[in-house]
Amino acid sequence: MRRKLVAGNWKMNGLKASLPQVEAIAAAAAAHPGVDVALGLPATLIAPAVAVAGAMPVGGQDCHANDSGAHTGNIAAPMLVEAGAKLVIVGHSERRADQGETDADVKGKAEAGHRHGLDVILCVGETLDERDAGQAEAVVTAQIAGSLPDGADGAWLSIAYEPVWAIGTGRTPTEADVAAMHGAIRAKLTDLLGTDAASKLRILYGGSVNGANAASLLACADVDGALVGGASLTADKFVPIIEAAA
Ligand code: PEP
Repeated sequence: MRRKLVAGNWKMNGLKASLPQVEAIAAAAAAHPGVDVALGLPATLIAPAVAVAGAMPVGGQDCHANDSGAHTGNIAAPMLVEAGAKLVIVGHSERRADQGETDADVKGKAEAGHRHGLDVILCVGETLDERDAGQAEAVVTAQIAGSLPDGADGAWLSIAYEPVWAIGTGRTPTEADVAAMHGAIRAKLTDLLGTDAASKLRILYGGSVNGANAASLLACADVDGALVGGASLTADKFVPIIEAAA
């Protein structure tokens, strides 16, 4: 039985003025012990958030594949760990697009996160052009094959399926499309890892999840939680999603 995970992705949002939101979200997480809740925060907010987040894990939104070195502006997994991070999001479509991250890059980042004890949320998802061309499943399963870290294990790794065209747009796939894609991802994981290991990985849905649509999306076959962007920034929007998963 896979526990549901509801993870927030604050992207490039959040100053210390937002810490009361972290605290309120952590209080809701503590009130719903049947669901795992986590926040992916800007690196600058991790340490101050840890101070108010209680038992709720917080983490980063990227890490470099290397532990240190001449990589101006990047952040390494040990730095996240030192700040108090418990998890890292890798391969988000905004990084794949803006920073040109390849599947091989994402695999290295996931392995670095795990090497330093972080839980890893690995993002995959197709563009609208790819979906319209009937390529969605082929694109996503190829991303899985190319970016799945060595030693992938549900104890520390989750996959987030995030159709690029659903992120921040208010659009979501149909429940049938979500179930079909999550089933295709599970089948690909089974090919790569075997039935037992594949059955232990959580597959999150991400893309315009909100308090109104969370329950129906979370009820789809093979949906083990949600990765939430805009609606994770404030407790009033995020807590209903936690409640829908509980
Ligand atoms: C995301 O960027 O991970 C995301 C799912 O964003 P939103 O919920 O705002 O669509």
